[in-house]
Amino acid sequence: MNLTGEMLIGASFVRGNQGTQRAFNPATNQEIAEPAYGMGGAQEVEQAAALAAKAFDAYRSAPLTKRAAFLETIADNIMALGDALIERAHAESGLPVARLQGERGRTVGQLRLFAQVVRDGHFLRAAIDPALPGREPLPRPDLRLAKIPLGPVAVFGASNFPLAFSVAGGDTASALAAGAPVIVKAHSAHLGTSEMVGRAIQQAVAAHGLPEGVFSLLIGAGRQIGEALVAHPAVKAVGFTGSRQGGLALLKAANSRPEPIPVYAEMSSINPVFLLPGALASRAEAIGKAFAASLTLGAGQFCTNPGLVLAVEGAGLDRFMAAAKEALCGAAAQTMLTPGIHDAYRSSTSAVRSAEGVTEWVRGSDAGTQPNAAQAMLFVTDAARLLASPVLGGEMFGPAAVVVRARSLDELLQVAEHLEGQLTATLHIDAADSDDARRLLPVLERKAGRILANGFPTGVEVCHAMVHGGPFPSTSNAMYTSVGATAIDRFLRPVCYQDLPQELLPQALQASNPLRLWRLVDGAPARM
Ligand code: NAP
Repeated sequence: MNLTGEMLIGASFVRGNQGTQRAFNPATNQEIAEPAYGMGGAQEVEQAAALAAKAFDAYRSAPLTKRAAFLETIADNIMALGDALIERAHAESGLPVARLQGERGRTVGQLRLFAQVVRDGHFLRAAIDPALPGREPLPRPDLRLAKIPLGPVAVFGASNFPLAFSVAGGDTASALAAGAPVIVKAHSAHLGTSEMVGRAIQQAVAAHGLPEGVFSLLIGAGRQIGEALVAHPAVKAVGFTGSRQGGLALLKAANSRPEPIPVYAEMSSINPVFLLPGALASRAEAIGKAFAASLTLGAGQFCTNPGLVLAVEGAGLDRFMAAAKEALCGAAAQTMLTPGIHDAYRSSTSAVRSAEGVTEWVRGSDAGTQPNAAQAMLFVTDAARLLASPVLGGEMFGPAAVVVRARSLDELLQVAEHLEGQLTATLHIDAADSDDARRLLPVLERKAGRILANGFPTGVEVCHAMVHGGPFPSTSNAMYTSVGATAIDRFLRPVCYQDLPQELLPQALQASNPLRLWRLVDGAPARM
């Protein structure tokens, strides 16, 4: 594909005139010269938003089968981009080719999962409480509920998943599945990848004869074009993955509008891992080795990276520490996504290193002359220090973690209680640890969206039961997940139809059930 550096506004290609951006190769520390990306401004936001608003009613009322087929065509078009997509994403992100191939599989799998969700129709949550005209003392009217999309959605892609959390990632796939037009603000860390995937979506819109405003891709600085997008009255919800600072800025912009809108921001999480004594006694070495592999996967650039390990001191913890040291001291330095993320890693790890009562336990191999490469690091401290120092509970985005030595289970519980909201919390347990685990679980349920036993949190399955969300600051809204089938719920709202004539009801609620949906009829599931 010949990249042009233009924005995609509906069916048009538009060159921005608010300055230029170029893609950057973090592995060579050099700009990628071609193409130059023209940055857009308020005018392009206005165009994309107006087209999205115009497309909304037609898109949401198109048959569900057509919406599902559209999602599948996007998946097919992404696959048809072939190796060129992987090569461009590799050059722009420094992520290994095999990882990007896997991520592409996840991206198209996610689109196909949402196609199934749309065909199945259960997401509409259709419910019918038929009229009870003879009810005493008052008759009940005919009441029917179904969900409709909120309206056009603004999506801010993540730097760390240039495919699966970006232009055609989970936010876009779930919003399109809900029946909402999408306007993506391309992440400046993978502009060419964004253009390629954006065109794949644009072509799918045309192939299915959908209104052009169903999808637009804007390029520009977050603080200008991004905030203008969130402020635009036609935009009704926002999906974001990135820094706490960026997420909070968008939340503030959304709440300052005359009509505030929801922002589903996934921000920061340190994903505590609790090692209980029975598990440590039986397999400390294996846990130490597996922990090191999880910590360094993808240069640690995962929102689910295990950044905090907690255990009661003793021989088991010493064995874990020795095994982690052995595995990490040889870990190769890995290229990070951008120089900015590399700088942030350096400053967050040096803040932890210089905090009182913290010891650097091990460092991975030196980066040498390799640009923007992160060296793995493991620090150790005690529970009292962690409780006293906010720096130690913060995210070090990259392959670094803090181990907290506690004196007792009570102290571990105190630390768990002190933690901020998390995407995940992990327990390493044996049968002998059940009583301790039972004491920790109620605290962890309050703190995290996903609780794991005897594994590591990196690796988020895209399926029906997944929760990739959690209390603040891991996300801005703990009621939803950004991964998995129920991510669609973020972009829907219920409407109740009272006593509407059959011919005016949406198909999902008509008496003949033309969509053959499972519906709640008088509180019981029925498919008639
Ligand atoms: P970021 O700085 O938050 O940027 C993410 C996206 O939001 C970009 O498109 C950015 O646009 C836009 N943006 C940022 N601030 C904005 C604002 N005030 N108004 C409007 N748009 C705004 O995240 P990043 O560049 O990907 O990574 C930076 C740090 O975020 C990392 O070091 C890490 O700490 C954290 N991070 C966390 C996760 C996670 O999953 N938890 C994932 C990735 C990164 P511009 O680029 O044009 O500014």
